Amino acid sequence: MAFKQSLEQIDPNTAEAIDLERERQESTLGMIASENHVSKAVLEAQGSVLTNKYAEGYPGGRYYGGCQHVDTVEELAIDRAKELFGVDHANVQPHSGTQANMGVYFSVLEPGDKILSLSLSHGGHLSHGHNVNFSGQLYDVEQYEVDPETGYIDYDELESHASEFDPDIIVSGSSAYPREFEYERIGDIADTVDAYHLADIAHVTGLVAADVHESPVEHAEFVTGSTHKTIRAGRGGIIMCEEEYADAIDSAVFPGAQGGPLMHNVAGKTAGFAEAQTAEFEEHAEQVVANAKRLADVFHERGLSLVSDGTDKHLLLIDLRESYPDLTGKEAEALLSDVGIIVNKNTVPGETRSPMVTSGIRIGTPSLTTRGFEEAEMETVADLIVDVLDDPDDEDVDDRVDSRVNELCEEFPIYG
Ligand SMILES: *Cc1c(COP(=O)(O)O)cnc(C)c1O
Repeated sequence: MAFKQSLEQIDPNTAEAIDLERERQESTLGMIASENHVSKAVLEAQGSVLTNKYAEGYPGGRYYGGCQHVDTVEELAIDRAKELFGVDHANVQPHSGTQANMGVYFSVLEPGDKILSLSLSHGGHLSHGHNVNFSGQLYDVEQYEVDPETGYIDYDELESHASEFDPDIIVSGSSAYPREFEYERIGDIADTVDAYHLADIAHVTGLVAADVHESPVEHAEFVTGSTHKTIRAGRGGIIMCEEEYADAIDSAVFPGAQGGPLMHNVAGKTAGFAEAQTAEFEEHAEQVVANAKRLADVFHERGLSLVSDGTDKHLLLIDLRESYPDLTGKEAEALLSDVGIIVNKNTVPGETRSPMVTSGIRIGTPSLTTRGFEEAEMETVADLIVDVLDDPDDEDVDDRVDSRVNELCEEFPIYG
């Protein structure tokens, strides 16, 4: 009976692709700042029979019968999120970080209302009002930028921009800004112009949970996050807010923006949040940041130029224009990929190339830290990266780096 056969038996092509992907993850150094490896427990929760269950509504108030056990799971996720982040209210149903932002916009904005957010090419995110995304199409968006000299957000410019534009909401948070945001300052600016402050902590959800990155909770009405990045709780999103916005947020997510929740993913969040409450996770998060700082040190020693000169968190952005004027982000990504180091090309402030080419690469430490890498390994990896970028046509260098990458992967297996 087909129903009881394995994936391998029913669909060997897909089974093989999954196996190859597992092998790819084990045998390369994943340094994409938004990615991570989830634990076996999270994989188990996400691959569970909860995928079968419809649970429109919220715990205790569902539109379907048979929800007693998924209620338990969702209540656990909510309680753990409230504890981890010190918030009044958490909604764990958003399918992704983008849907979490959608939930916030739908809760307090009308189409045509004004959003002030960080420009995409300066580190922002599509869901902060880019014109190819619903957020840019439904709302009137203006953007703030980083100071091209320092690479830090220009808060004075942000302040005068806000008083001129008079936004309904100011969005903080980023995908590629290596520094912490001054949440208090942005919250104050939002107050002066009578705007909401949405702090999108997608990238740093795990760092905030572990207290190694400042929490915006005191300074923002809304905090959104991704659950698959630094917090390692499986793919999904989360919204947190003050009690007075709880009902507006819940109805904006369901039925406003989404249908039934992905209960297997909610279970992933429940499991991941349990791990995030341990002392082990706190140490892990500290190591993520220490590893990124060590990478930055070695890059500095070897003469590379970094946006904002370094990092406060889990990622850094190499600006290739000074050290390697002829090398594009796209080419650097391909060169590193050829030796098993996976990064992504990224625009840099003052970008002159297209977003498909770029002049930068973004490098993150969460996945390698999850594998067990510490400062000593990060020094090795940083040197390997610079060796490849310094000599893009030298096959001996490539061979040497490639075999060193393999050794590191074998020494630090992900799932064993
Ligand atoms: C990753 C990210 C998101 C969410 O992206 P999804 O792919 O929709 O989960 C939202 N905001 C920022 C700043 C991000 O970096």
